[in-house]
Amino acid sequence: MLSLAEAQAAILARIQLGTRSDVLPLTRAHGRYVAAALHARVDNPAFDNSAMDGYTLNSHDLVAHDFVLPVLGESSCGSVPQQLAPGTSMRIFTGAPLPAGADTVVMQEDVELVGERVRIPHAIRAGNHVRWRGDDFRAGDALYAPGHRLRACDLGLLSAAGVAEVSVLARPRVLVVATGDELVAPGQPLQPGQIYESNRLATLLQLEALGAEAVDGGTVRDDPAALRALLKGAVDYDFIITSGGASVGDHDLVKQVFAEIGEISFWRAKVKPGKPVAFGRIGARAHFFALPGNPVSSLVTFKLFVEPALYAWHHSQAPVLELPAIAANGFQRQPGRMEFLRARLWSENGVLQAEALTGQGSHQIGTLRHTNGFIRLSEDSQGFAAGEGVRALPLF
Ligand code: AMP
Ligand code: MG
Repeated sequence: MLSLAEAQAAILARIQLGTRSDVLPLTRAHGRYVAAALHARVDNPAFDNSAMDGYTLNSHDLVAHDFVLPVLGESSCGSVPQQLAPGTSMRIFTGAPLPAGADTVVMQEDVELVGERVRIPHAIRAGNHVRWRGDDFRAGDALYAPGHRLRACDLGLLSAAGVAEVSVLARPRVLVVATGDELVAPGQPLQPGQIYESNRLATLLQLEALGAEAVDGGTVRDDPAALRALLKGAVDYDFIITSGGASVGDHDLVKQVFAEIGEISFWRAKVKPGKPVAFGRIGARAHFFALPGNPVSSLVTFKLFVEPALYAWHHSQAPVLELPAIAANGFQRQPGRMEFLRARLWSENGVLQAEALTGQGSHQIGTLRHTNGFIRLSEDSQGFAAGEGVRALPLF
């Protein structure tokens, strides 16, 4: 059985990178992944300008005029001011161009107005409150490399850089299928022995949040012929994700059918929850994940295996934020697998606290409503006592 790290490495080694790209306006590029490097089209700032509302002057004039200068003219946003006359100051506003001849801005709170003149404090330094052309980035600078996932702030930055369109990777098409004879859609009446299906929606939404085009493949019964037909018809997807039927019970057919028509890289990993998880390929294109049916196992294995795979497909790397925390309670266990405990995380005087929640069964989806993170236990860990250091991962 592979360790988590081995299983993740096996996945990354086998992911085919996405190649198709789309050219999109910035307004449609949120959450997409850069396909071709993006360069600034202008300097930022585009011209020397003022960081404050105040008065601009040439610092060399100050001593000769005993720090008192007449105010002549004004520079406001959106227009180009006259040149600064020698021995004078000019009214200026935040973002307005520095007039030729000026090198310093004094904020208005720091000057004393004396009639038509301003008295400047002696402590003023040359270059004060000036934002120099190009001090942020220059036209032609490479701003983003392929694989970068575009956040809202990145799209703001690109707007400032004069970039109107971006080349991003086309979204991968991902088919999501639930398997199980017992599953019924919410809203339908439950017959004895049936349960409501819950993995598919959660998986579809997580995929959408990662920027994939998630396709709802519905629920199939535990029937080899139905599964075979479904998987054979799905070879043109970039990813196929099933839930349930991945372990070794008589009705766990996903792995059997997968082995028959695809190529399995691995089918178990030393993680808890989520041991029965299979990964491989079907046909020349489709990556296949058979995730376990238990709802919490489905969530955890999605995070551990599918998320890194999707980032890799986008020439990118999944962000992993693991933080040191202090255990708020104790937890004992048998070593053997890496374990992810549902946890409540909070900060106390700047120190992260982590409480292992009651109800860690992999069927206990109810615990998720209190969960905002996980405590990660290494394979050999026997647990921890209250007050001990643990490793915590926030769940966003
Ligand atoms: P399996 O992996 O098919 O052996 O299923 C393990 C457990 O998860 C069983 O109790 C199933 O009833 C349950 N289960 C499987 N698929 C789903 C699903 N899509 N939604 C909710 N529970 C499920
Ligand atoms: Mg099942």
